[in-house]
Amino acid sequence: MIKVTFSTEQKVKEYGGKVTGFDILQPDALKEAVALKVNGELYDLSRKIESDAEIKVIKLSDEAGLDIIRHDAAHIMAQAVKELFPNTQITIGPTIQDSFYYDFATDRTFTTDDLTAIEKKMKEIVKSNHRFVREVWTRKQAIDFFSGIGEKYKVDIISSIPEGENLTVYRQGDFVDLCRGPHSPSTGRVKAFKLMKVAGAYWRGDAKGPMLQRIYGTAWRNKDELNAYLECLKEAEKRDHRKIAKDMDLFHIQEEAVGQVFWHEQGYILYNVLESYIRKKLINNGYFEVKTPILVSKELWEKSGHWDKFRENMFIVDESESKKLAIKPMNCPCHVQIFNSHTRSYRDLPIRMAEFGTCHRNESSGSLHGLMRVRGFTQDDAHIFCMEEQVNSETIKFCDLLKEVYSELGFNEIFVKFSDRPDIRAGNDEVWDRAEKALLEAVKEAGLSYKLNPGEGAFYGPKLEFVLKDAIGRNWQCGTLQVDFILPERLGAFYIGADGHKHHPVMLHRAILGTFERFIGILIENYAGKFPVWLAPTQLAILTITNEADDYATEISNILKEQGVRVKTDLTNEKISYKIRLHSSNKVPILWIVGKNEVTSKTVSVRNLGSERQESFSLEKATESLLKTKEVRLVDHSGEMVGIVPLERALEFAQSVGLDLVEIVPDSTPPVCKILDYSKQKYDIKKKASEAKKKQKTLTIKEIKLGPNIGDHDYETKLRQARDLLAHGHKIKVTMRFKGRELINTEVGLEKLERLIRETEDIAKVRDGWKRATPSVGIIDSQSVKRLKRGSRGYDAGKKKKGRKHHYCRYIGSCIEADVHSANVQDRDGALDLLFKRKENTNITEVFADQRVIPKRWIVEEFFAWLSNFRRMDKDYEHSPLTSKTNIFFDMITIMLTKLAT
Ligand SMILES: [Zn+2]
Ligand SMILES: [Zn+2]
Repeated sequence: MIKVTFSTEQKVKEYGGKVTGFDILQPDALKEAVALKVNGELYDLSRKIESDAEIKVIKLSDEAGLDIIRHDAAHIMAQAVKELFPNTQITIGPTIQDSFYYDFATDRTFTTDDLTAIEKKMKEIVKSNHRFVREVWTRKQAIDFFSGIGEKYKVDIISSIPEGENLTVYRQGDFVDLCRGPHSPSTGRVKAFKLMKVAGAYWRGDAKGPMLQRIYGTAWRNKDELNAYLECLKEAEKRDHRKIAKDMDLFHIQEEAVGQVFWHEQGYILYNVLESYIRKKLINNGYFEVKTPILVSKELWEKSGHWDKFRENMFIVDESESKKLAIKPMNCPCHVQIFNSHTRSYRDLPIRMAEFGTCHRNESSGSLHGLMRVRGFTQDDAHIFCMEEQVNSETIKFCDLLKEVYSELGFNEIFVKFSDRPDIRAGNDEVWDRAEKALLEAVKEAGLSYKLNPGEGAFYGPKLEFVLKDAIGRNWQCGTLQVDFILPERLGAFYIGADGHKHHPVMLHRAILGTFERFIGILIENYAGKFPVWLAPTQLAILTITNEADDYATEISNILKEQGVRVKTDLTNEKISYKIRLHSSNKVPILWIVGKNEVTSKTVSVRNLGSERQESFSLEKATESLLKTKEVRLVDHSGEMVGIVPLERALEFAQSVGLDLVEIVPDSTPPVCKILDYSKQKYDIKKKASEAKKKQKTLTIKEIKLGPNIGDHDYETKLRQARDLLAHGHKIKVTMRFKGRELINTEVGLEKLERLIRETEDIAKVRDGWKRATPSVGIIDSQSVKRLKRGSRGYDAGKKKKGRKHHYCRYIGSCIEADVHSANVQDRDGALDLLFKRKENTNITEVFADQRVIPKRWIVEEFFAWLSNFRRMDKDYEHSPLTSKTNIFFDMITIMLTKLAT
């Protein structure tokens, strides 16, 4: 009798004797199943379960299932190679990330044609659908077999297995390989694979040993997955940061300083932009910055435990025969020294100590890869010294900060790997319980999705690893937060608690970017070098067509440099087409091209990276639009504070979620913007207001509108209503609106207003005198003009406002709502001229006041850019106010009448 517990379904079944996966799984489940996990060990579906067991089905959809398929593919490849090239000896064939390889001993150098032939053969083997048959052999049996067929590498492997131990081989068709397994039921399960490349490899990785031929292949669950992977590889190759860095002249690495970066001018600008960006974030989040030594005596590393655990990765320096120093591989012990330099009280905690810490680790030279893996690097490191009960809140704060930084740097997809207690650990279980709970709650609270990594925590505490997804879907683990109960104790850090006793603080090791080197590598690949303007090392290049424009170019460049623009001029005698190509390949986001014409007309021809279009702008206009790359404090659509981001990114973000970007606090620095559905918000506000009105029985302000040409009869009606409302204690706002030609003779209207004041004088007084409604600008279409005429005829206080219709325009996500204010202009161009004039002498926020959404200068400019391009944008924009519509301009005078106090 065998008892099988199905761990996923929590179900127990009993069987009469030994069973296999094929016996116990339903046909449906078998289709998806690749193997079983039996008491923690992987089993083939055909392998007999000999005793009571807890089992879990490994499905193709699981990572482990896919890994088995890849190993199947490696065996199939070995079989194919043996069939095509019988003189080849097989060695080992493991799986690696996304792929598999097999090392072959042969005199032949495999060619791409060979790969094609091998692939073809593999397809035949897959089609034959051979069963993978597991056999248990004695060691002797195996040695006899493999030496019999001349596979001396296999014999070599078997010889290293202790005597007396049985081993397993897998047979598929005529091919037999020494293998631990497991395998899927048959070769037909390998549905989608491709051979990638051939490389040399040493037997057992030993450079003195024989050289083998390694064939790499990749295998996936289906053709779609395979194609997506190949597509991604192709894209990744194009984006290789080493290649792009060469084009952009960012850095180099050379033999004399293996694994360390020579930052060139452009690269170091990028580095510094990123560093100041992070520094600003740290300051805003309550960190302070320190700098600690690079060369530190062995004794400290012994105390911290690194000498024991990490020594082989440390570069050691002999100061004298007896005294050894080490180049720091991490900053933590040094930070504890600063913590220990004062007596700390619980009131001082948390202490957030940050360092752009330059560290060195002796990574094996084979593992080094461009900026992605280096020996010398700078971490955006910080340690938070806190009390245990602060771990949760500090972690939440950190998660928020990390999210903000990632999203501002262009990464919006993040997940967290949460690693809990390992088997070997320091500290008691209650402390671990609390720390794990604090971390997990923080991750949930920060709204991050997470995967559990059971048992993968450090021995000194649980940890979070933050993984971001780049533009082509690759995952990069960058940020980290580790709870540490041990180091402060080891290095004697303490604070005086509220109880007057000494306590060890908890230390949170945390980094957002990880290292500047690797993160810049990721940034380069994510953007394929085409950085957003705020990050680009050179933001603008001014290219001259002729040297007659040299002075002009230099002059512009000097002005812009003063404004902080990272600008370059190219005054060489090269052809302009060459210059454009050069600076485009340097990925400069904006090019200004100047020749004789531009000098005379004081203009520049603007060309943006990736566009063939070239547009001429006046110098002022071009400068303005360049400098307007401003920042806003962004609140996202779920109400969460994203942080300070360049406007451009905020707009992109809004666009990506299909909503509008609206300034909600325009006067703060930087202005606060929220992502929301503006039309819905308007509706909500209206609804709320009307609900509030309903509840509030006594209305305080009623509006009465008059036109200057109002007839006597209508006037009498308005007057009656006004008196009536005043008698009931309401305040009345009386608005006189002049529109179009009425503006020529405003006295008529003002007389009407005066008359109204006179004729209510016995019961009302004017509060605050005459008021010109804050001049404002807007667009009103011809339909609303009609409605305006109708609406302006009667008293409509308390009724739904019909007369005027605000139009708001979306320009890449931003909203503008405004009224038209003007003197005698009736056409759009005249109005725009006037506005531009006004803009020069007036603070534009004033011009645009009286709105919930108060566009600041930059939004206004966007608006006008949009207006002048409306034809181009029209398709995307349903509320296009200008195409077939008339604009009118008006002026408003209001007075407020209040009941006389009696
Ligand atoms: Zn194998
Ligand atoms: Zn640390």
